[in-house]
Amino acid sequence: MKRDHSKLICDIGELTALFTDAANLDTLLQNIVDMAALHMAADVCSVYLFEEQSRELVLKATHGLLPGSVGQVRLRVGEGLTGTAFSELRAVCEGDAARHPGYRFFPGIGEEQYCSFLAVPILRGRNSIGVMTLQSVRKNYFSPDDINVFRAITSQLATVIEMARLLLSLGRTPESAAATATDAAGLKFVKGLVGAEGFALGESLVVTPLSLDDFGDSDFRDDLTAEDLHRAVVAAEKELMEMQLAVEKKLQDVSSFIFSAQILMLKDQGMLGAMESLISQGRTPPEAVRQVVGQYVARFDRMSNEYVREKRYDVMDVGRRILQHLAGHQDGGGHHAAKVVIIRELLPSDVLKLSLQNVAGVVLLSGGVTSHVAVLSRSLNIPLVIADESRLLALPNGTRIMLDGSQGNIFIDPDDEVVQKFREKEELRANVAQVRAKMLDQTRTRDGVRVTLLANINLLGDIAIARDFKAEGIGLYRTEFPFMVRSTFPTEEEQYLIYRRLVEGMKGREITFRTLDIGGDKMLSYYDYSKEANPFLGLRSIRFSLRHREIFVQQLRAILRAGFDSGVRIMFPMISSLDEFEAARTVVRECLAALKAEGKPHQSHPVIGMMVELPSVLEVIDELAVQAEFFSVGTNDLIQYMLAVDRTNEKVADLYLPHHPAVLRSLKRVAEAALRHGRDLSVCGDMAHDPRYVPFLVGIGVRKFSLDARYLAKVQACITALDTREAEAFAAGLLRGATLGETARAMECFPAAGEQQ
Ligand code: PEP
Ligand code: MG
Repeated sequence: MKRDHSKLICDIGELTALFTDAANLDTLLQNIVDMAALHMAADVCSVYLFEEQSRELVLKATHGLLPGSVGQVRLRVGEGLTGTAFSELRAVCEGDAARHPGYRFFPGIGEEQYCSFLAVPILRGRNSIGVMTLQSVRKNYFSPDDINVFRAITSQLATVIEMARLLLSLGRTPESAAATATDAAGLKFVKGLVGAEGFALGESLVVTPLSLDDFGDSDFRDDLTAEDLHRAVVAAEKELMEMQLAVEKKLQDVSSFIFSAQILMLKDQGMLGAMESLISQGRTPPEAVRQVVGQYVARFDRMSNEYVREKRYDVMDVGRRILQHLAGHQDGGGHHAAKVVIIRELLPSDVLKLSLQNVAGVVLLSGGVTSHVAVLSRSLNIPLVIADESRLLALPNGTRIMLDGSQGNIFIDPDDEVVQKFREKEELRANVAQVRAKMLDQTRTRDGVRVTLLANINLLGDIAIARDFKAEGIGLYRTEFPFMVRSTFPTEEEQYLIYRRLVEGMKGREITFRTLDIGGDKMLSYYDYSKEANPFLGLRSIRFSLRHREIFVQQLRAILRAGFDSGVRIMFPMISSLDEFEAARTVVRECLAALKAEGKPHQSHPVIGMMVELPSVLEVIDELAVQAEFFSVGTNDLIQYMLAVDRTNEKVADLYLPHHPAVLRSLKRVAEAALRHGRDLSVCGDMAHDPRYVPFLVGIGVRKFSLDARYLAKVQACITALDTREAEAFAAGLLRGATLGETARAMECFPAAGEQQ
């Protein structure tokens, strides 16, 4: 039977969004099973949740089984079809369950008559936290589509359940911490690194975890009551809802649930109740907010999972918003227009929030220029300078700051003359329309050799910019961004929708999907990484995908389905050996076979290639060139791993040297292997957008570049001015260099290198 599943997903989404009280989780679950059973015309729908203490799955809500069985029916992990779905993290669907050897029948709860059985695990990252089941008296009742829908529903549920449990588990131990600010007096200029280009002029806003102390007692009226607290909470909630809507509008691919944790905290009766109870004991509303938020923060600080600990910032944000409204400020901290934010650490989701708050620019005190926070800032047009100068944190808020993102310069309280000079420069830079108008549809060197310029895409919002700057296609779509800002893994359907929009947005042009490249500096907040001493050398990228096959399979299926009517190129990141490449390609082939068997429209001939990012592949590059249909060199990682220099560590930024002879010679080897085997080769790391290196790359035979679209005009101009024979001679000179000094000197020899704009 065909059912309109989108309605069910929306209704359940609405129910979870309206969920207001962590203590009422059981009621929410009951409403959901009732709704799902009705919609599916199923006889039974139940939810089982895992209980840590007993390590059992406990029936928490049911529609159809005897009501008395709630709390009574308990299953061990791996027991029955439900326990199997839980332990194997996969949906189990049986058309005639009673005949299945793994079926576990519970006498006395009314299960006797049911044939069809569907169990879908409730996944939180890589862990199951429970199972949702459906049963029907009819045989073979549930379809593969139903499984997909219930994956989407359980994914919505997972977020709410986890948050509710976290809130319920929070204790009440207050903790205080004191700010330690170093003296910023006399600080006039700081030289930092370019994170994202652009110019910003605004008032400083130092964002520290202690922002609750931004308000002193004098900021509040003396006669504030519990009623005022309520009004402040409602106003803060409205503000967050508006921000959620705004992010959904602006960034559809990454929007989902960014603010859900905060919204849920504001609605939670436990948090509000604690504040009210303190007020009834004679505390003022601001004191009550500070105390309760302090207790929550302290609890989060004690959590063992580093990424759950990050939630402390969400709680602080909630507290700050309430206080701001209690103080009678309307903006509730929601807008930082014309503010230059100074902050010690940033997560990718914070960059999205800052972009919504219209910050003028950001000064970040940690991280590297090729870190993914920097990459994301570029996509969102937020000028970012990375500066290892903690005195900036001690600047009084409201200090005039000028940020020159293109040079990495930070001017503190600059005089008007300096400001004027940069304004003029920025106006020129911002005149993109003129730049675009001058761009050619195709790029050729001065002597007529064709070079293809493609764009790197991180967010769907980049598509329009890529088209504007005449990108001939997408050479690298970093698919991990939609994964990074969600609160659980996106389902196959969600990914399909995102990828489909990319395919439609770039109709007829080349698109290279890079499979999930997480780990390193791209952590997922919902994945419980066991502590890794060296995450960049750990379970990242293709290793993660091969270890967590079902996540990999969902992504590959979504990509293949999205490209059903156009060419699709699939690229594996961080390949370290021939074996790894073959293992990954096997999974693609299995997905192709499965999609064919299911009769789902999909691309049956994807082009399968790999990134060259690890020194280990250089020794087997010829064998890889036989197997892989294309190479794309990720110079950011190649340099990091070849030189053992963390690309996100500003302390070793001076050792991150693309002109190291080992890097240059490796690039040459890769280019030669690709040429020998007639394989397509591109460069997609940051070297591809640097006019100092473009002549070298052209000189060793690179004819395809993929780069941040904002640099396309600059790189096109650079290539148009190049003669390939000159570039070859230049490259040969560089390759003769055995020391850094020699290659640096050889770089200066190229007359056109460096300053083509
Ligand atoms: C690279 O490593 O050069 C690359 C393009 O990939 P990412 O920057 O996403 O690691
Ligand atoms: Mg990389």
